[in-house]
Amino acid sequence: MAAQLERPRRRRDPLVAYLYRVDLAVPVRPMTPARRAALAKANAARRTCPSCRRDAGYVIPASLGTCVPCADADPHGSDGSTR
Ligand SMILES: [Zn+2]
Repeated sequence: MAAQLERPRRRRDPLVAYLYRVDLAVPVRPMTPARRAALAKANAARRTCPSCRRDAGYVIPASLGTCVPCADADPHGSDGSTR
């Protein structure tokens, strides 16, 4: 009974809070070319696999630490298991 009464309340509150936070979080900063270049560089670094040094084309997942092909070829994981 108590859980049924809480559900609609929980659904409404986060939505309102979210809208307020987005409104406050919008940065009023100009995007300069230097800033854009720094961001691009940071993104490229995040996409570069530390194992094979290639641009994976996507951000390296923190759970893998390497690109997917490297994670698949990981000698520690090639013991025949599905990991
Ligand atoms: Zn790799």
